[in-house]
Amino acid sequence: MTTAHSDNDMRHDLIATLEDSGFRLTAPRRVVARSIEQQADAFTAEDLCESCPGVGRATVYRTIKLLVEAGALCKLAMPDGAPKYSLARVGHHHHTVCVRCGKVGDFRHSTVERMLRSLGKEVDGQIVGHRMEVYIDCADCSNR
Ligand SMILES: [Zn+2]
Ligand SMILES: [Zn+2]
Ligand SMILES: [Zn+2]
Repeated sequence: MTTAHSDNDMRHDLIATLEDSGFRLTAPRRVVARSIEQQADAFTAEDLCESCPGVGRATVYRTIKLLVEAGALCKLAMPDGAPKYSLARVGHHHHTVCVRCGKVGDFRHSTVERMLRSLGKEVDGQIVGHRMEVYIDCADCSNR
């Protein structure tokens, strides 16, 4: 089961997240945070630069980085091109990404987690985390 990020009713208060994390809230960072809250779908840093004319690129990139570190944004590796970002759901989860339209969904799967735990015995070292993007041809795109 996947849920599109835009379908959930969780409220994202990125400005509060930044404040709670102890980051200085400059006016440009506020603009960037508000703009991220308004993104319906996953976005690239370049998309965000376009939605925030008047804010320096360095500030946009820096704010994204802070929000990823604070756990408010997920950074998604894309099969080709720049990484995308999406608002983070609470708790550990993975993503589906449509290779045609770029739509991002969340999922959790206990079998995947068990598999990765058992992998811990095979690797030379301690696993401290993992991330996973599953690339799909989404239902909307394949019905088109
Ligand atoms: Zn996510
Ligand atoms: Zn699609
Ligand atoms: Zn996992």
